[in-house]
Amino acid sequence: MLRMAIGRRFGIDPTRIVCGNGSDDLLHLLAGAYLGPGDEGIYTEHGFLVYRIAILAAGGTPVVAPEVNFTANVDSILARVTDRTKIVYLANPNNPTGTYLPFEEIRRLHAALSPGVLLVLDAAYAEYVRPNDYSAGLELAAMFENVVMTRTFSKIHGLAALRVGWMFAPAHVCDALHRIRGPFNLNSAALLAAAASIEDTGHLEIAAAHNAKWLDWLSGEVSRLGLTVTPSVANFLLIHFPPEPGKSARDAEAFLTSRGIVVRGVGAYGLPEALRVTIGTEEANRAVVAVLSEFVASGSNPKGGLRG
Ligand SMILES: *Cc1c(COP(=O)(O)O)cnc(C)c1O
Repeated sequence: MLRMAIGRRFGIDPTRIVCGNGSDDLLHLLAGAYLGPGDEGIYTEHGFLVYRIAILAAGGTPVVAPEVNFTANVDSILARVTDRTKIVYLANPNNPTGTYLPFEEIRRLHAALSPGVLLVLDAAYAEYVRPNDYSAGLELAAMFENVVMTRTFSKIHGLAALRVGWMFAPAHVCDALHRIRGPFNLNSAALLAAAASIEDTGHLEIAAAHNAKWLDWLSGEVSRLGLTVTPSVANFLLIHFPPEPGKSARDAEAFLTSRGIVVRGVGAYGLPEALRVTIGTEEANRAVVAVLSEFVASGSNPKGGLRG
């Protein structure tokens, strides 16, 4: 039933949709189906960490492609392809950087990969992206035998705790996943909620418009405080802090936490000097800026320092 609803909404063949217990489930199943000992899976330097975990869990070897300006780079990915490469995971846009690759670059990447390499386009944040050179990759997955697009109900739909994700893939990939997935991998409450949510286009429009407005506002305000912000097309911002005692990302996180604001440290992503801040309600966004403003000011006064 959920596959029918998704198929209708996107105009795609429901038999080529597989649902998972979150898209995380599908990312793991893809590694399980296509990777074994001796095989390599590629992901990018600051890419979503589930890829690394899924590759390792399947017994494969993770291969990291360096990024440029916190953005995935097609040439860097292609340079790491070997005859052992079986899968390339790419989050577009990526979490936690918020950056994306235009569709032309995705097509260039696909065109240069051999048909034996599965390209997994993880479009968890697709609904937030505004630039019109972006595509989630649905048309590539429709056309080619080695492209999968994954999506989730956890982000703009706001149903993360219900755990529903889906993928659109070639028939042979769907077939492989149906064989190895658990037969009861989704519960009926989650299926019903997701099917209702996909019809609720009004909610999606409101959420996307809210995000667009406050993403721009938050980027502007945080930049004005003198902090570097990586341009984001998603629903969060990566904010960079100077690696100085009292001014670092760790200090900022502690300061924010002490004021009741919980943000995401991203040291595990190779970004120890940054924090990821999600776009929230107007009240939350204004509170983050007020507290960061206080943090930046206090850091510049040695006597009025954080721990002083
Ligand atoms: C959140 C997220 C997902 C998966 O979320 P699920 O809740 O498992 O559907 C996948 N990829 C990226 C990049 C994400 O940020």
